[in-house]
Amino acid sequence: MFRMGTDMDTTEWIRVCRDDDLAEGEPRVVKAGEQEVYLVRVDGAVRALGTECPHYHEQLIKGALFGSEVVCPSHFARFDAHDGRMVSPPALDDLPRFPVEIRNGEVWVGPVVKPRFPKPAGDDPRVFLIVGGGAAGEAAAETLRREGFAGRILLVTAEDERPYDRPNLSKDLLTGKAKPEWIPLRGPKFHANQRIELITGRRVTALDPAAKTATLSSGETLAFHKALLATGGEPRKPAIPGADAEGCLLLRSHADGRALARAAAARKSVVLVGAGFIGMELASSLGELGLRVRVVAPGRLPLARVLGDRIASLLRSRHEANGVEFHLGVTPVRVAGTPGELRVELSDGGVVPGGFVVFGLGIEPAVGFLAGTGLAGSDGIPVDTTLRTRHPDIYAAGDVAVAPDVAGEASRVEHWVVAQRQGRHAARAMLGSSAPYAEAHFFWTRQAGLPLKYVGAARTWDEIVYRGDVEAATFLAGFYRGGALKAAATIGRRVELAAVERLVRLGRTPSRAEFADEELDLLAAAMAAAPRLPG
Ligand SMILES: Cc1cc2nc3c(=O)[nH]c(=O)nc-3n(C[C@H](O)[C@H](O)[C@H](O)COP(=O)(O)OP(=O)(O)OC[C@H]3O[C@@H](n4cnc5c(N)ncnc54)[C@H](O)[C@@H]3O)c2cc1C
Repeated sequence: MFRMGTDMDTTEWIRVCRDDDLAEGEPRVVKAGEQEVYLVRVDGAVRALGTECPHYHEQLIKGALFGSEVVCPSHFARFDAHDGRMVSPPALDDLPRFPVEIRNGEVWVGPVVKPRFPKPAGDDPRVFLIVGGGAAGEAAAETLRREGFAGRILLVTAEDERPYDRPNLSKDLLTGKAKPEWIPLRGPKFHANQRIELITGRRVTALDPAAKTATLSSGETLAFHKALLATGGEPRKPAIPGADAEGCLLLRSHADGRALARAAAARKSVVLVGAGFIGMELASSLGELGLRVRVVAPGRLPLARVLGDRIASLLRSRHEANGVEFHLGVTPVRVAGTPGELRVELSDGGVVPGGFVVFGLGIEPAVGFLAGTGLAGSDGIPVDTTLRTRHPDIYAAGDVAVAPDVAGEASRVEHWVVAQRQGRHAARAMLGSSAPYAEAHFFWTRQAGLPLKYVGAARTWDEIVYRGDVEAATFLAGFYRGGALKAAATIGRRVELAAVERLVRLGRTPSRAEFADEELDLLAAAMAAAPRLPG
């Protein structure tokens, strides 16, 4: 029986709008009973999907629809508008969808179909080993199952817990806005249900590529047919006296995060050594918790090497307005004092006091277990466009991999979404795909109350072209080298950045003059850019 109106639950079919109210490519959110539905006409047919990105629950209607791809405005997860299928992380799940029927010129929506994780059937004698249970490792394991791999998946991770949301360690988890139970990427039963053998608290100590075996810290040996190396990195500690003193901390793991939270609760001040992304996010979060924050770093401005002086000055001034004290153009030479009353002595003779110290000095790729294999280079594991190492059955992804980007430039980047996307790509390659990795780099940070997002990679640039007003913290910046757009960053114009991301991915970047011309609609350019997802 069909009922009309908007006051019914979605176990029944509900009329939501007139068919001719919905134009191709112009999504809208409608009510179906108590539930909201993202309604869109794509390739002529009406589709009805869930309204929220499964990653951080952002409303997808605030994002973009490029062709048949729905893009979340927060961290640029992508979904296929035809069926809600997740096309690209950071979301791990598909969107819920609703069956649609057109009756007498009206759109009717049926009961929700919740996304189900596929369960591959059949026998496959192969064993795939994934070393490292972080962003890349988890995404790879899940992709193997999504793509139908029915063999054994061994996911070995040195940490004592199942994969979790690492970027949150310096943000809402530290300030208490995120609950600890939100941090694991998956529930306690997920891995067992998917037959992903999660081996926690054990480290791969050696790999034998010829024999295709891995030795664990527990002494066991695991044999594999194919392996993915996704071990991320280890935080750097400066080689200065006192760096190992009680109260000198690092931040990479959840355990590090818990130690940091305990220190923050016990002390009233902190010295942050390093003004990179982790240092500056900690400056915000620890300041929010009421600590006195002092930052020591060698550069003239925080993050100027990545974002340029103008954006870096904005960030510095916002941090200072929040009470952060900067000691820039200096390096630490010694940590002295007693627990709870430490002193960081500086290269210019200055001394900065703090209840504890955090070193945010970047990472070294975690490749120690590869000694003697020839798989690791001087700064990580070089891979080809399929993310395969020099060994035909061994792949690498994430912070540890030196991988070509969509423009073919090889680099090692340290971004959550890139690690997930590379993990997915490597999993497909392990299953036989020879497609080249074709995503644009992307990262985000949130500090001093400002959400900043960045697409591409510009290690150097000739010119930064701005749209909007940097000082008012509403801008889009394009980093140009040799006349070509290498990267773009934004605060406050995230949908335009999503458009740039698509243009970078498709190799259709705007010229310098086009970027400078506010009249040029980047969204329209991204919408016009092929290809569409096959319907
Ligand atoms: C505090 C913090 C905040 C961040 N914020 C952001 C952000 O806002 N945006 C962003 O884009 N990126 C952010 N990042 C970076 C992002 O977290 C990394 O790029 C991402 O985690 C890399 O994923 P990965 O899988 O390569 O490595 P990881 O996530 O580090 O996972 C590697 C795993 O492998 C394990 N491992 C290492 N060696 C071995 C071994 N020999 N045997 C077994 N297991 C091993 C490690 O213990 C770890 O669990 C942040 C990082 C940190 C630390």
